[in-house]
Amino acid sequence: MPSPQESPSTAARLPRPDPFLLSLVVPVLNEEEAIPVFLAAVDQLLGGTGLDLEILFVDDGSTDATRAVIAAHAARDPRIRGLSLSRNFGKEAALSAGLDHARGDAVVPIDVDLQDPLELIPQFVARWREGYDVVYGVRADRSTDHPLKRLSASLFYRVFNAVADTRIPMDTGDFRLMDRRVVAVVRQLPERERFMKGLFAWVGFRSIGVTFERAARSAGTTKWKPFRLWRFAVQGLTSFSTLPLQVWVYLGAVIALSAFLYGSFIVLRTLVLGIDLPGYPSLMVVVLFLGGVQLLSLGVIGEYLGRLYTEVKARPLYVVDELFPPDRTGRQDI
Ligand code: UDP
Ligand code: MG
Repeated sequence: MPSPQESPSTAARLPRPDPFLLSLVVPVLNEEEAIPVFLAAVDQLLGGTGLDLEILFVDDGSTDATRAVIAAHAARDPRIRGLSLSRNFGKEAALSAGLDHARGDAVVPIDVDLQDPLELIPQFVARWREGYDVVYGVRADRSTDHPLKRLSASLFYRVFNAVADTRIPMDTGDFRLMDRRVVAVVRQLPERERFMKGLFAWVGFRSIGVTFERAARSAGTTKWKPFRLWRFAVQGLTSFSTLPLQVWVYLGAVIALSAFLYGSFIVLRTLVLGIDLPGYPSLMVVVLFLGGVQLLSLGVIGEYLGRLYTEVKARPLYVVDELFPPDRTGRQDI
């Protein structure tokens, strides 16, 4: 689905720095096997392109040797930097940490498992040089995903775009190139609940999609579990829409109207036919139905209240434990 900003003819040629630094921001959770594979692929696929790269790994509280692997690579290769969070904060927070520390003129968040094709990056860069500020990857098909994940993803995009004030293009992930000024705006957004895809779309600027095929994971296993995915979807929706909160007014109105009509019917019938059976089943149905609806709506209010609470507490998004290579001053800039 083309996004409204997408009109190549209007893309003015902004002066882009030359030479420029491109940051790859790579959140990693327990990816000791995937990191060397990723770095080899970077050398193989981007080595000949002459791109000036910074590769910034964000260790999201891994419990395996991920941190040591990053430290070793950062010590050997000046292009590689890393930071280690004090615990697992989740991919969204890890990405935020990465954006905060990336130094590039353009920044590409990318998964370490090579599911986001590195080959696409030169195309991203070309589009960026043409004047686009955001070049996002669009998945051509999801055949490498489990059918259930595919179904739930498509359902999610549909619901999100129907309900939310910000539209996110179908089948986009975090894999995209952003100009540094886009990154600056994303970094300024004060919210704690960071549904990155939504934030990226909210920011706007001249954007264009590039289609790609998503490969299967190179090594290791997916870190997402069904319930986590569900929470992620709820987070996305509640961060970008208040419709679930307001829909109860209409639902309540419909239920109240039906109750009124049914009530009138019962009164009339009693007047005409007199009292017949005590009506236990219909009473039960109505009580249970309304009980369910009320609990559901309370739950939705709870969802928003919970988010409000998180925002009000305003805790930092993440805590940095260690930087690689270590900061010369020994200072931990969080
Ligand atoms: N990841 C992370 N923190 C988390 C979960 C995942 O940094 O809490 C990283 C993970 O190491 C990988 C990327 O996010 O680089 C995408 O994760 P995964 O491949 O498991 O997700 P999927 O591709 O299945 O959506
Ligand atoms: Mg993956």
